[in-house]
Amino acid sequence: MNTEAVGWLRSRDYGTVCPVCGYDLGVPAWDGPISSGRACPSCGITFGRDDTFGRGDSGASIICYLQWRAGWIDRHMPWHDMGAPAPAGWDPVVQLRHVRENFGASYSAWLASLPPPQTPEHMPYWRSRAAQRLAELGRPPVAIEALWDGDTTGWFVSLYAIIAHPSVQHPRYTEAGLINLRGPGGDIRIFNGDVPPWPEARMASEIGQSLAWEHTVPFYFHSQSEPDDQAPRWWDETE
Ligand SMILES: [Zn+2]
Repeated sequence: MNTEAVGWLRSRDYGTVCPVCGYDLGVPAWDGPISSGRACPSCGITFGRDDTFGRGDSGASIICYLQWRAGWIDRHMPWHDMGAPAPAGWDPVVQLRHVRENFGASYSAWLASLPPPQTPEHMPYWRSRAAQRLAELGRPPVAIEALWDGDTTGWFVSLYAIIAHPSVQHPRYTEAGLINLRGPGGDIRIFNGDVPPWPEARMASEIGQSLAWEHTVPFYFHSQSEPDDQAPRWWDETE
């Protein structure tokens, strides 16, 4: 968490700047308890509608702004207003400095620094990320395991190294996360008939098998063909 950014939000001294993305709205988002009712053309938040807690509950509105910002950054900071184009030379990374967020020198530099998408052609990059994380553990794995999980944005596959060390999950083993793999397109693919097969499951299998082979340990993926967050674990099968 960026404590400077949170501190700035807590100060409530936003001036005419959008508390989510730093765009200069020209008017304050809120005037005391009265919202401007405006939509920010940059990030799309509508004051008085999307920040329902307004200024009444300071903690809740700060969380709301931070979540809205995180979602906008996840989508790579698109200009929101379809009816009015972004100002010439608009740079959302420079703009975010107004809300005390530093993503580097410029938007183009930030984009260039992002990891590649989790698609098969970028498998070598994601394999090396997982291998690096495994090396950082400093302990040899006894197994590599892939496991489905889900959150509000959909299904994903987590790749774990299993280490011989007690944990809250198992008296003898610990799972250490190596990488999460999300296929592009989200769960809408289920309805479009694009999955199965799930490309993220295939990537998890290939990377997992390769790491397992390198360490001469088993690779375990109980439900490769379809999402299942209740699948048995490797350690259930080895009892
Ligand atoms: Zn905004």
